[in-house]
Amino acid sequence: MRKFLIFLLLLTVHFSFAQTQSDVARPKLVVGIVIDQMRWDYLYRYYDVYKSNGGFKRLLGEGFTCENTFIPYTPTVTAAGHTCVYTGSVPAVHGIVGNNWYDNVLKKGVYCTDDDSVQTVGSTTPAGKMSPKNMFATTMGDELRLATNFKNKVVGVAIKDRGAILPAGHAATAAYWYDYKTGDFITSTYYMNALPQWVQNFNARKIVDSLYKLNWNTLYPIQTYVQSDSDDKIYEGKSSYDSKPVFPHMTNALGGTNYLAIAATPHGNTMTAEFVKAAIQGEGMGVDDITDFLAVSFSSPDYIGHQYGPNSIEIEDTYLRLDKEFAALFSYLDSKFGNQYTVFLTADHAVANAPGYAKENKLPGGAMSYYNSSGVAKTIDKFGLKKIIEASANNQLYLNRKAIDSANLNFDEVKKYLLSQLNQDPGIFYAFDNANINNAILPTEVKEKFLKGMNVKRGGDVQVILPSGYMTIGTTGTTHGSWYPYDSHIPVIFMGWGIKQGRTTRDVFMTDIAPTISALLKIQMPSGNIGKTVGEALK
Ligand code: ZN
Ligand code: ZN
Ligand code: ZN
Repeated sequence: MRKFLIFLLLLTVHFSFAQTQSDVARPKLVVGIVIDQMRWDYLYRYYDVYKSNGGFKRLLGEGFTCENTFIPYTPTVTAAGHTCVYTGSVPAVHGIVGNNWYDNVLKKGVYCTDDDSVQTVGSTTPAGKMSPKNMFATTMGDELRLATNFKNKVVGVAIKDRGAILPAGHAATAAYWYDYKTGDFITSTYYMNALPQWVQNFNARKIVDSLYKLNWNTLYPIQTYVQSDSDDKIYEGKSSYDSKPVFPHMTNALGGTNYLAIAATPHGNTMTAEFVKAAIQGEGMGVDDITDFLAVSFSSPDYIGHQYGPNSIEIEDTYLRLDKEFAALFSYLDSKFGNQYTVFLTADHAVANAPGYAKENKLPGGAMSYYNSSGVAKTIDKFGLKKIIEASANNQLYLNRKAIDSANLNFDEVKKYLLSQLNQDPGIFYAFDNANINNAILPTEVKEKFLKGMNVKRGGDVQVILPSGYMTIGTTGTTHGSWYPYDSHIPVIFMGWGIKQGRTTRDVFMTDIAPTISALLKIQMPSGNIGKTVGEALK
C-alpha cells in the first residue's frame, strides 16, 4: 500500500511537472535577425576589416552558412522579403506583393501594413494604424504560438513598421516600431491598448537624443576604409542637415526636431539593439522552457544604402559598426541563455550599385523611367486615351479598365499594342503580359520569379523589366527590387542551439529559412510554405 501511494505521488509529481517542462527538445529563445538591405558579398568584402571576432566572423565560424541563397521571386523589396523569410512563402501566395500596391478590387493604392480599423498606441500620430491583416499566410511565430497553445511570446521589433509587423505574424504577442515624428517606439491596438511599462521606460530614456549628440563619424580613421570609393561623390544623396555627403555627419543638433534622420545613420542600429535587449528583459523572453521568438529587423542599412550606395564609406562604416553591434548582442544572449538559443541572420533583399558609380566604372547601369517612355506616349496617341495607366507599382503597369471600357475599346488590343510599343523602347529590357507569364520569352528560372511574385488581385497588367543595373530613381543613390543577383543574393546563416557548423554552396532560397527553423523547433511549417528544409544545417 505504501509503495502504491509513493507510486501515486510520483505520478502526480510527474504530471504536474509535465505542464511546465516538455520532453520535446527546443531552445529557450529564437532570435531572427533580418538586415534590411544586405548583399551576401558584404560578408567577404569587409571580412578583413571586421575587427571583431564575435559578429559576422563568429556567425561564419560557428554557424551554418548557405552561401548561395536567392530570393525566389520579384519584386525584391522590404515587405515581400520580411514576409517571405517568416512565412516560407512568396507574394503569389502570402499576398504581400510589394511595400505598396494597387488593389484591383478596392481600386486604390494600399500600403502593406495599413489598417484603418486599429489605432496607434504610444503616440498621437497615425504611424500606428498598422497590422498584418493584408498578409494571407501564417508565420513561424504564429505556428510556434499554436504549438505552445499560446503560452509563449512572439515579438517583432524594427524601426520600420513593416519590418516588425509582418515577421511577428497574426497571433504575435507584440510588434514594436519607431515613430519618426516622436522618436518613440510604438505599437497598435491590434496587439494591446497601452504600451507596457518597459516600453514607456525605454521611450523615456530618449536614446535617439543621446545618439544624435555623438554625430556620425567613421569608427576608425577614414584612410583605413580601403574597400570603398572616396567620401564625396556626386551620386551620393545628401541628408537635409548636411551640406555635403561626407563625414562627419553632424547630427548633434537634431534632437527634438528631426527624429527621422536617425534611420539613415548607424545610430538607428544601436537604438534597435538597445530595444531588443530591453524587450528580452521586459517581456521576460527565454526564461522558461516554452520557446519564445524575437524577430528583429535592422532597418538603417537600407536607408543608408539607398542614400549613399553600396560602395560608399558610409556603407562600409555601417557594416563595421553593425559587426560590433552583433558581437555585443551575441555575448548578451550568451550571458543570458548560454547555449539555449538559436539565431538566424538574413536580409530582406540586397541592392544594386549606384547608377552613377556603375557609369564611372564602365559597368552597365543607369536611371530611367518606363512610365514616361515613348511606348506609353504612342499608345496614348493611337487610342486617344489620356489616362491609359491607372497606377504603377513594383515595375507593373495597371491599365485603366474604366477608361478603356468607356471609350469602347478592346482591353486586350490596347494591352497588346502597349506591350509592342514598350518592347520597341530601347531603354526597356522586356515587357510582358502578366496574365500570360508562362509565355513570356524568358529563361524558366527568371520567369518563375515573376510568377511567384504575381498576385491577381494585387498585381498589374503589364510587367516591365529594365536592363541589369538600370532603375527608376533620380540622380543620386540607388535601389533594389529586380530579380538580378545583385538584388536577390542574400546571406543566410544559422547559429546556436541545434545547429551544426558548416557551409553549403548548393542553391538555397529565402523560402527555405522558415521550414528549417520549423523543423528545428518541431512545429508545423507556416500555412503558405513552399520552401524546403536545409536539413544539413540541423544536428
Ligand atoms: Zn528592405
Ligand atoms: Zn560619403
Ligand atoms: Zn530599400
